[in-house]
Amino acid sequence: MKCYLCGKTFFERRNIHTLFKEKLVFRCQSCLKKYPTYITVQVIPKDNGLIYITSLFKEENNFNLLAYNNEIKKWFLETINSMNEADIIIWIDEVSDELIPHLDLLDNDIYLLTKTLKYFS
Ligand SMILES: [Zn+2]
Repeated sequence: MKCYLCGKTFFERRNIHTLFKEKLVFRCQSCLKKYPTYITVQVIPKDNGLIYITSLFKEENNFNLLAYNNEIKKWFLETINSMNEADIIIWIDEVSDELIPHLDLLDNDIYLLTKTLKYFS
């Protein structure tokens, strides 16, 4: 496999139990250790519900998000399984201060996935 962050080709160690199981890995062991996610959830109350803002990283970066497919997939699966049918999922690179008042106009809870942590007051 090819690492989506450093571009190096790498191999996943297999044993008899995992030999025929497909395990998708998008980062090499070195990048897994060097560039972990820093998942933070902030909850902001709004008129009719809550906004759950989940960020993947503490600092701004230019990482190829394909390298974080597993983390993003996990977030989507957990969110879809826990949310109500009418709730909204939004995936956006950066949450601006102008966006929050617009989200306030929407009904129900909003689950927002974003790249970099930003503190809202
Ligand atoms: Zn790598």
